[in-house]
Amino acid sequence: MRYAETGFNLEVDLTRGNIERVETDPRDTELYLGGLGTNAKILWDRVPPEVEPFSPENLLIFSAGLLCGTPATGCNRTIVSTISPQTNLMAFSMMGGFWAPELKYAGYDKVILRGKSPDLVYLWINNDKVEIRDASHLQGKGATETAELIRQELNEPKAQVAAIGLAGENRVYFASIEQGRSSASRQGLGAVMGDKGVKAIVVRGTKDINIAKPVEFLGLCNDVLEYIKFRNQNPIPGVMTILQGLGSPQEMATHDEKWHTENFMWGNSRVRRRDFWTDEVKKAWTQTMDSMRTRLISCFNCPMKCAATISPPGQPTYMMKCFSKLTYTMAAMSDLDFGLRIAQQATEYGVDGFSTPQVMAFALELYENGILTDQDFPEMPADSEGRFYWLLDKIVRREGIGDVLANGTYWAAKAIGNGAEAYAHNNIKKHEQLPLKLSMLNPVYFLMYATGEKINITQIEGQFPQAPYPKREHREAFVKDWFQVPDEKFKQYFLDWEPRGENSNPYYPTVQMSCDIVDWQEKMHYIDDALGMCAGLSSFPLKPPYHIHNYPKFISSGAGIDMDEDKLSQAAKRYRTLVRAINIRRGMRRKDDKPPENHWKKRFPELEKELLDTYYNFKGWNNEGIPTQASLRDLDLNYVGEEFIQRGILTNDDAPSKENSAEKVQQ
Ligand code: SF4
Repeated sequence: MRYAETGFNLEVDLTRGNIERVETDPRDTELYLGGLGTNAKILWDRVPPEVEPFSPENLLIFSAGLLCGTPATGCNRTIVSTISPQTNLMAFSMMGGFWAPELKYAGYDKVILRGKSPDLVYLWINNDKVEIRDASHLQGKGATETAELIRQELNEPKAQVAAIGLAGENRVYFASIEQGRSSASRQGLGAVMGDKGVKAIVVRGTKDINIAKPVEFLGLCNDVLEYIKFRNQNPIPGVMTILQGLGSPQEMATHDEKWHTENFMWGNSRVRRRDFWTDEVKKAWTQTMDSMRTRLISCFNCPMKCAATISPPGQPTYMMKCFSKLTYTMAAMSDLDFGLRIAQQATEYGVDGFSTPQVMAFALELYENGILTDQDFPEMPADSEGRFYWLLDKIVRREGIGDVLANGTYWAAKAIGNGAEAYAHNNIKKHEQLPLKLSMLNPVYFLMYATGEKINITQIEGQFPQAPYPKREHREAFVKDWFQVPDEKFKQYFLDWEPRGENSNPYYPTVQMSCDIVDWQEKMHYIDDALGMCAGLSSFPLKPPYHIHNYPKFISSGAGIDMDEDKLSQAAKRYRTLVRAINIRRGMRRKDDKPPENHWKKRFPELEKELLDTYYNFKGWNNEGIPTQASLRDLDLNYVGEEFIQRGILTNDDAPSKENSAEKVQQ
């Protein structure tokens, strides 16, 4: 018997219209857990580096995490993986909501799409009955509108729908997959779905899943719920409002936006407005939010309420998540009313709320600086808000300059030339990042930005505070009940971290400490992404209810896999390394492991080199960032090592032997 997982994947060949229910190997679950871990294994096995993102041979995998659908609070993530058209590397993006548990209840752990459908279709998974259905009548429809129309035509109000909008259909490189309460937004997953001719995947499931030791498992779940209650009653003092509690950043409940609006950059990550947040702005924005926010809402099986339904007068109601609340506002130098309105349209089109505003602001900066001209913007309105609406429309339709911009700032700048590349200044691995420009290099964030392959906007942060507390007594108070640490040394690291002086950035945390901290943070994110746990209850906030000490118990009693902290850490390291191996096989090297040049004003090349060298070594990677034969053997990834040698990526003595290029333009 399989526990927590169903033991079956749904394989869909869109070219042939063939659907198969395929039993999976339980040994893969032991080695790679599920979700991201087994997605990576499938991509390694079945998508060689010669496969382009828009090739029929590229796979698009929708995976429920290992513990999704169990009573584990907040465990509801769908992990969507493919090869990204924007980065040409492995993309994995998570969406919350209700889709993943529904898939489990229908009897499947993953849906694996391959090939391309000649016509626009949607997939209807209704327990054992699975059909590919015509979606020609949905062509051009918005993502939310599509979900509603499909539910009506199937007469299944409880069906969960993951759909793309016009942006996905037109293969916009930053197109998202929308799922009502949540979306898989980063790295152009929606473009790959559109390229495959799939408008939506619709799921309804009414089966049960098995739990290995139900009494023990429920006890653990209750402990988590109790702890959430405790943390809600005891917010962490001394950190910004949205980090004081649990959940994904509680943006929808927050009225005080002083911190974001004054510290994040506006426009295309270019201007900081230090005195923006006045009493008048606060009053106006509070009124806007209170009048448009109709309800705070949650994902499946979670007491937190991180999202909200937004009802802009005269526009359809939609669900807004997280920081997209501000991204359009800040890019357009406008106000919250505009931000909440344009986000409705952007959600219907199905685009990433971080890349899209930056791409539009980038276009306007090129215009203002004469690199693009009036001819590129025929009939564009004169006001900033009007221009944003105009650009959004052009981009998702790939019309005129919109066709170039639809590939994101990196590729658009290359195509435009004439100095445009200097304006695409906020990318990591060709993907738009958080609009932040800071002063002093932070060694922990340097490593996260440089080596991260998750490429989400919050990187792999969490667990360890983002900045030192000014007074030692506050730090002492913080570490007192910090039981989530994997090792007591982390408490000392934090206790000794000062805002100024010898023990401050950039030389403190020291190189070795920075490696330890980044590794811990990354491990927790990767575990969440395999189990399907919301980062808002585990890897993202300070002092979360899920951590390295209780996760093994959840896996043992839930999935029936004998697990302890070491074994779990080793499994996470294994599939994290596999993600890197996939990207290395696609040409990623040390040159790609870098933050945006202007992310910090004060840079320290020697220190940065030492950080990268030491971290590579710590992770078992050689000087080019390639996992070594020894580390691959240690992780039972001998097959990766063998292929690295066959392909000339490594020699037997672990020296890198060949540089490939990830610089391929996908069209
Ligand atoms: S913490 Fe928020 S984002 Fe996470 S599962 Fe709960 S409601 Fe969803």
